[in-house]
Amino acid sequence: MSRIPFIAGNWKMNSTIEESLALVKGLVDSLGDVKGVDVAVAPPFTALSEVSKALEGSNIALAAQNVYYEEKGAFTGEISPSMLLDLGVRYVTLGHSERRHILGESNELVNRKVLAALKSGLLPIVCVGETLGQRQRHLTFMVVEDQLRDALSHVSKEDATKITVAYEPVWAIGTGETATPEQAQEVHERIRERLAFRFGEEAAAQMRIQYGGSVKPDNAADLLGRTDIDGALVGGASLKVDSFEGIIRAGIG
Ligand code: PEP
Repeated sequence: MSRIPFIAGNWKMNSTIEESLALVKGLVDSLGDVKGVDVAVAPPFTALSEVSKALEGSNIALAAQNVYYEEKGAFTGEISPSMLLDLGVRYVTLGHSERRHILGESNELVNRKVLAALKSGLLPIVCVGETLGQRQRHLTFMVVEDQLRDALSHVSKEDATKITVAYEPVWAIGTGETATPEQAQEVHERIRERLAFRFGEEAAAQMRIQYGGSVKPDNAADLLGRTDIDGALVGGASLKVDSFEGIIRAGIG
């Protein structure tokens, strides 16, 4: 089964509205009509509205970096799925390691968000990944499988194919250290096996599994060339048109 590669840029807590618009204009100019690859950018919440307008008519989709699981009410500081849809958001990253480790998000909270996103029509990008200590103690598979099982709890077979999984080893995020294509492929293969066990072979074959962790133009082709690596979730290198474009071109092959 051939899956269209999916490259998403996670801008994290970077870029004012003006900086976001400059970046997105550059991306639209060089990639706006890109084909053979799905592309999304996840600016900070404050820039979503303006970036959404700037992306209109392009092939680049809008993603959000987080969402809350309730629709409305007394949840100070939170943002609901329908508020994101209202802005033209299509994807949402959930369970990013920075939210798990810095903000203390649990697997249970990630699961609630995944279910709420799916119910609303947002497409979740669900991040999983082990820390360096866990890898050194040979716990990678166990940690990733547990995160996956819990994050996807109560997800139906029909909804499963709307989900992208992002394998992001914590030790490779923002460190300049990348998993080797072999290390990444090994975990991706295991993730797909678990998805097949949970949702069936057919659904698992359709689901995309991105790799994330210091992806750059010069390592992207090697990573994206592996059987079960269907795209990339890109942090630092998505903040510059040239480097993000380089990764996307590597995805097209
Ligand atoms: C990320 O934020 O998901 C990420 C992978 O960051 P970086 O590419 O900077 O390692």
